[in-house]
Amino acid sequence: MCIRDSPDPILRKKCKPVKLIDSSIKKLALDMVETMGYLGGVGLAANQVGVLKRVVTLHLPEEDHRILVNPEITKSFGKREVKEACLSFPGYQGIVKRSMRVKARWLDINGSYYKLSAEDLLSQVLEHEIDHLNGILYIDHLLAHEKLNDANQIGLKNILDHEKLNDIKSQNQPHIHDVDINLIVDKAVSYTHLRAHETLRYLVCRLV
Ligand code: ZN
Repeated sequence: MCIRDSPDPILRKKCKPVKLIDSSIKKLALDMVETMGYLGGVGLAANQVGVLKRVVTLHLPEEDHRILVNPEITKSFGKREVKEACLSFPGYQGIVKRSMRVKARWLDINGSYYKLSAEDLLSQVLEHEIDHLNGILYIDHLLAHEKLNDANQIGLKNILDHEKLNDIKSQNQPHIHDVDINLIVDKAVSYTHLRAHETLRYLVCRLV
C-alpha cells in the first residue's frame, strides 16, 4: 500500500467508524500490517494509506502486531514530553506533549471488545494513531519552542511552519524526491526487482 505523505489532504480528514468487520476491512487491516512491517513503523492509521475508516495497526517492539477497529481513548492521565515521528513525514521528528497513561478501547479484527490501560510507548502510539483517525497530525502538538527536525541530520533544517515542509524538502540535498525521480528515469531497473527490496518497494509505491 502507498503511504500518503503530508500535505496530502486525506491526512486531515476524519475517518468513519467501521459498522461491519467484513472481508474488505480484514483485507485492509492485513495490508496495513504488511505495509507497516515493510516500513518498520510502530503504528499506522487507515487514512495514511488512503482509506477513511477507523482502523489502526500497531506493532510495538518485541510484541505481535495488533489490529484496532474503532479505537477510542476513554481517559488520559498526566503529561510528558516525548520524541515523535510519523511515516507520513519521512525523515522528520519533533518533541510533543503526550499523556503519561491512557485508557483505550477498540474491537479486534474478529469483533471482540478490548479495553486496556496503556503507558509508555503504547500510550503514545495509541494517541498518535487515534489522532490520525481524527485528522490530527503530530506536528499539531509540537511544543511552541520546538521545531520539526531532520531526523537524519542531513542538511538540518528547523521548521517553524509545517506548511513550508515541502518547500524546505526541495531545498535539502539529498532527499527522497530525488531518489524517486532517478527511479522513474532508470528504465533498466524493473518493477519486479524493486519490489524485492523493501525500501525501494516503498519508493515505487510513492510514485503512483
Ligand atoms: Zn503518524
